[in-house]
Amino acid sequence: MASIFSRIVAGEIPCYKVAETDTCLAFLDINPMAKGHLLCIPKKEIDYIFDLDDAQFTDLQLFSKRVAKALKQAVQCIRVGVAVQGLDVPHAHIHLIPLNSPDDLDFKRADRPKFTPEEFQQLAAEIARHF
Ligand code: AMP
Repeated sequence: MASIFSRIVAGEIPCYKVAETDTCLAFLDINPMAKGHLLCIPKKEIDYIFDLDDAQFTDLQLFSKRVAKALKQAVQCIRVGVAVQGLDVPHAHIHLIPLNSPDDLDFKRADRPKFTPEEFQQLAAEIARHF
């Protein structure tokens, strides 16, 4: 069965898209640890990030770097944090999280910020503007 992220790539499930190339896609995380938390994925479905071949891995990393720079311009933060977990969704992805405090990168964080669909949409558009 296709991963939920493959279904996003196929357009079967909506997302708040931030950036796209022929091979990679970035969209806002639906349950963000911090404002602007987003995911960068290869469009090709491969579960474990370290199973990407060298070209795919490099492509995803360079895409994430470019997205991180756009994110930093769009969302006030000290730095953009990077994390790879992949315990929930079996489709390789890199989390990019704007950091203003160490607590902003905490997968166990209970008090996650909430955004309306309109706020997600505006945020995605603002990041996309800088990509
Ligand atoms: P993990 O696989 O542990 O790295 O976590 C998967 C991440 O994907 C979590 O942060 C979820 O909030 C996020 N997520 C799951 N489904 C969606 C979706 N449909 N759109 C955006 N983010 C999602």
